[in-house]
Amino acid sequence: MALDDLFARELPELAIRWQAEAAPEPRLLVLNEPLASQLGIDPGWLRCGEGLRFLTGNLVPDGAVPVAQGYAGHQFGGYVPRLGDGRALLLGEIATADGSLRDLHLKGSGATPFARGGDGFAAVGPMLREYIVSEAMHALGIPTTRSLAVVATGRSVQRDTPLPGAVLARIASSHLRVGTFQYVAAAGDGGGPQLARGVLRRLADHAIARHYPDAAGAQNRYLALFDAVGSAQAALVAQWMLVGFVHGVMNTDNMTISGETIDYGPCAFMEAYDPETVFSSIDSWGRYAYGNQPSIAGWNLARFAETLLPLIDGDQDRAVEIAQQSLTGFGAQLQSALATGMRAKLGLAGDVAEEVATPLMNDGLALLAESHVDFTSFFRNLGRAARGDAEPARGMFMNLAGFDEWLARWQALNPDPATMDRVNPIYIPRNHLVEEALEAATGGDLEPLTQLLDAVSSPYDERPGLRRYAEPAPEDFGKYRTFCGT
Ligand code: AMP
Ligand code: MG
Repeated sequence: MALDDLFARELPELAIRWQAEAAPEPRLLVLNEPLASQLGIDPGWLRCGEGLRFLTGNLVPDGAVPVAQGYAGHQFGGYVPRLGDGRALLLGEIATADGSLRDLHLKGSGATPFARGGDGFAAVGPMLREYIVSEAMHALGIPTTRSLAVVATGRSVQRDTPLPGAVLARIASSHLRVGTFQYVAAAGDGGGPQLARGVLRRLADHAIARHYPDAAGAQNRYLALFDAVGSAQAALVAQWMLVGFVHGVMNTDNMTISGETIDYGPCAFMEAYDPETVFSSIDSWGRYAYGNQPSIAGWNLARFAETLLPLIDGDQDRAVEIAQQSLTGFGAQLQSALATGMRAKLGLAGDVAEEVATPLMNDGLALLAESHVDFTSFFRNLGRAARGDAEPARGMFMNLAGFDEWLARWQALNPDPATMDRVNPIYIPRNHLVEEALEAATGGDLEPLTQLLDAVSSPYDERPGLRRYAEPAPEDFGKYRTFCGT
C-alpha cells in the first residue's frame, strides 16, 4: 500500500505530523469493497488484522507521513482563525489508475494539536451517518467525498452518555477548503505579507494542479481558479437543491475547493417541501436552511475571493472589481443549473419557453409548500402522472382544485416520464430510516444499515420489497433534529 505525502511536502506550513491514537479492539463495521477495488486496495487485506490497523491509522505504510491539516473558517458567520483537523488525519494520497490523486483521511483518530479541548474521537453513529449519506449522494450522482470504511475502535467515547467509538476512513479529491485559504491569507497578519503571499501562491498552485489544471494556462490563473471553484460549487449546490439535501453547516471550512460535498454532520434530506427547512439543533436563526444554501454558497465564495485578491491583481481596487464580476457570474450559473435541473425533474423538453417553464415551476413549488407535500415522492409520483396515472400525485394535495389546474398546464407540455425517472430518486436516506439503522448498529445489529445502504445505492431504480424506503417518516417520528461535531 503506497501513500504519497504530496500535501505535507508542498505545504509544510499547513501540516502537522501526527499519529493516530491506538484503537484497543478494532472491529470492521462496514467496508466499501467497490471503492477499495477502484483505489487498487485489496478488500480482503482491509478486512484482516493488518488492514484494520491500517484503517485506524495504527499501521502506517513505509514512506507515508500522516498529518493534521490546518485551516481556518467562518462558523455561522463568525471568523475562527484556527480550526484544523482536531480529530482527523490525512494519511496520504493514493494514486489512482487515471493518474489523479485521492486523499485517504481518517476521522475520529484521536486529538491533534488542533483539537481545541475536544477529545479527538468520534462515535459509531455519526461516522456511519457520514458513510450512509455520502454514499447515497454519490449514488445520486452528486460530487462528494466517499466513505471507504467505518471501524469500531473498542474505545468508549463520552458524549451525553458513553458511546462506542469509531474511525471513518474517507476518500476525497482533496481536503482543500475555503478555510485552508483563509488560514494562509490571515497568517500574513503575523508572519508578514511577503511570507503569506508566497505560501498563498504555493497553495493556489497546488489547488490548480490537483483540481483545475486548465487554469494553469489562463491569462490570470488565480482568477481562473476562482471561476472554476465557483462553477463547481454552483453545479454542486444546484444538485443539492434538486434532491432536497440540506447540508446543515455550510461554514467556510466545510466548503471544498474541489466542489465535492464534505462533512456530513447535521445534514438531512427535506421531506415536506419548505424552503425554511432546518434540521441542525444549533442553527437557531436558520442561516443554513434549505432555501438559503445558494446565497450562503455565494457568501462563502466571497470569503474565498478575499483570500485570492492579492494574487488576482496587484491593484486592490481592480482585484475587487474583477472578483465581484466573477461572483455575479456564480449566481447566474447556479440559477441556470437549478432551472435546467428543475425542467428535467418536470420532464420538460428543452424547447418549452422559459416564460412558460419558470412560472410553472414556481407555482408547482408553491403548491407543494402549501400542502406540505413530500418533495421526493411527489416528483416520483409525477412521473407516474406523465404515464397516465395522476392519482398518486393528486392524493398528496389538500388544495385539489389548485393542483388540478397546475396539472393540466403541465400535461399540456407533454412531459417525458423517462427523463423524470432518471433524475427523480425514489430512495433517499430518509431521516427515520437513518436513525433506525444507526441505533441498531450502535447496539450491534448491522442488518438495518446493510438494507438501507442497499436501497440508497441505486436510488433511481424502483425495486420490489423496498416500499418502506420510498416513504416519508411516519407522523409520530416528529420534528427531526440533528447535531454537529458529534
Ligand atoms: P465539524 O463541525 O465536524 O466541521 O468540525 C469543526 C471543527 O471542530 C473542526 O476543526 C474539527 O476538527 C473540530 N472537532 C469536532 N469534533 C471534535 C472532537 N471530538 N475533538 C476534537 N476536535 C473536534
Ligand atoms: Mg468540518
